[in-house]
Amino acid sequence: MIKGLGEKTVKLLNQCGIYRAEDLLTYYPYRYEVFNPTDVLTLSGEFIQTVNVLVESEPVVSYIRRNFNTLRFRVSALNKVFQVSIFNRAFMKPHIEVGKKITIIGRYDEKKNTFLASDIKLKAITSLQIKPVYHLVRGLKNANFEKWLQEVMKLPMDLDVKIPFEIEKRYHFISQTEAFGAIHFPKCAEDVKRAKVRFIYEELFEFMFKIMYLKEKETKAIGLPHVISDEKVNDFVLSLPFELTKDQKQALADGLQDLKSEKRMNRLLLGDVGSGKTIVAFILMYANVLSGYQSVLMAPTEILATQHYQSCKKFFDQYPVRIELLVGSMKASEKKKVFSDLSNQEVDIVIGTHALLNDQVVFANLGLVVTDEQHRFGVNQRKNLQNKGYRSDVLYLSATPIPRTYALTIYGDMDTSMIATKPQGRKPVRTLIKKEADVKEILQAIYHEFQLGHQIYVVAPMIEESEMDDLKDVHFLKEKFELAFRDKVNVGVLHGKMKASEKDQVMKSFEKGEIQILISTTVIEVGVDVPNATMIVIFNAERFGLATLHQLRGRVGRNNLQSTCILISNQEVERLKVLEESNDGFYISEKDFELRGQGDLFGVEQSGDMSFKMADLKRDYKILLQAKNDVIDYLKSGDYFQSAYYRDLTNKIDFTN
Ligand code: ADP
Ligand code: MG
Repeated sequence: MIKGLGEKTVKLLNQCGIYRAEDLLTYYPYRYEVFNPTDVLTLSGEFIQTVNVLVESEPVVSYIRRNFNTLRFRVSALNKVFQVSIFNRAFMKPHIEVGKKITIIGRYDEKKNTFLASDIKLKAITSLQIKPVYHLVRGLKNANFEKWLQEVMKLPMDLDVKIPFEIEKRYHFISQTEAFGAIHFPKCAEDVKRAKVRFIYEELFEFMFKIMYLKEKETKAIGLPHVISDEKVNDFVLSLPFELTKDQKQALADGLQDLKSEKRMNRLLLGDVGSGKTIVAFILMYANVLSGYQSVLMAPTEILATQHYQSCKKFFDQYPVRIELLVGSMKASEKKKVFSDLSNQEVDIVIGTHALLNDQVVFANLGLVVTDEQHRFGVNQRKNLQNKGYRSDVLYLSATPIPRTYALTIYGDMDTSMIATKPQGRKPVRTLIKKEADVKEILQAIYHEFQLGHQIYVVAPMIEESEMDDLKDVHFLKEKFELAFRDKVNVGVLHGKMKASEKDQVMKSFEKGEIQILISTTVIEVGVDVPNATMIVIFNAERFGLATLHQLRGRVGRNNLQSTCILISNQEVERLKVLEESNDGFYISEKDFELRGQGDLFGVEQSGDMSFKMADLKRDYKILLQAKNDVIDYLKSGDYFQSAYYRDLTNKIDFTN
């Protein structure tokens, strides 16, 4: 993409998601450093300052120990004379010549009359300079990144035009090329602002375009004629070990009606964690099978897919329904068998992960597509699965309890059913906030649960020892716990870097109760269901957003026992108290939204279509609504046929049937 980049560099860039020259341009700085040269008369110990000085003496290097030296020299500015000291810049010595004008950046120590520099610019900075800082992987340098950007800016490029010209004019946005210049090489703060305004609108416009385009398609979409025996469905519902809640019944009725109607089902089933969405999906999948079609359910992780598969098998144990699993870690031969069984309609229900998107997955007769935790998938992925059927009905499950007004906008293309109340008899999870110093008390609480025959989740934010010592790493905790409980307790470890088969093994042991304490990263966040687990302990709770913590807490409280959630944080974090107060996901999401904006709305890993580079759904909500209106007009006018970018986008998300 850029001439002369080594293979290694290209690899590192790829790690940052940069493959083409254009990608460099949309890799925006995460902050800026401002160098505003000050007058030496205002030297202050309290601020990092940028000062232009004259070198007055030859630098002297002292070697203190290996890899540690200081460079010292005298400078003057406006008749004030002082020392400059900087660590590990011995190599600069020959370049710092007496009489030369340079710029030093750092802090002044009045007592010692010494300027403790953190950086020295041999070419003096004479006027305000704004330097972008990029989040780069190890091995890439900010300065090089800037150089590449400069080169890329000179290349003739066929950039995607994402804001229609009319709109660009109407809002007086700066042009795309100008905006790239302004964001990467700003001359003043105003430049950054102008660029941001454009990019934020651009992201939201594109986002709303996808949604509104889909909505328009949806209202016209014709579904499959499902002829369903209500009696058989009812028989199954009556055979369940529990009675469906009122909301579940309503959601089921909505879904059944969709299946029977001529319109294609395009329904979002929203419900807090543990509200019982899965069973509703299973019943609808069964109803679909009863009318002669195949059903598919796609989940975001193997753990979750496997669990759904197992519980589905259990529910339909006595019913003539053929159920299969399809996940990436299965042997090629096993997958092949599933592929052929699917195409011969020897499978009624298949449950799996992204592996379902494989070209070799061909259904004989797909009637219903269910996507669990839909926010984890992008529109394209969801549609790809849907496209494996002909006019298949579509159901999305989501545990993201987002405020209603936002839901209406960002899920504007779907009908929604909501499960607002949890199954009866569930006790709210008791939530406590503790400090690490309370470790004894916490260990006792864990041991107490263990003695009652219950199981415990422990969540740590990191996988490996990190740069920050106080973050608890899963292996470190395992050792500590084993020591504390003198090996009476079986402790298991689960994290994202393990092989799928290993994860599976650990999860199975935990489900069977062979492991009593499961220490994990947030891989358990979505959907895992082990009713015997009654306690969850979360380290460094301040690192997580409320929505994630609520999801994690949702792993317990899945039976009629009293469950406990212990949030450990050494910092006073006001927002954690929201969790102490409430078990209501919708209330919590409102609060989270108020306190932090969109930040964590969709959990730790943002993916799918909701991950924006610059826009923030809360902060920019007004812009979102504006973009939505603009998109509606744009679609109505049909002008998007003339835009290569949007025509392409519609082709990508268009249904083939
Ligand atoms: P989620 O909405 O988070 O996907 P699940 O579907 O995993 O929730 O349901 C949580 C647990 O509650 C499961 O073990 C499920 O079998 C059980 N469950 C579902 N509906 C009911 C009900 N009406 N009464 C009792 N338990 C139920
Ligand atoms: Mg679920």
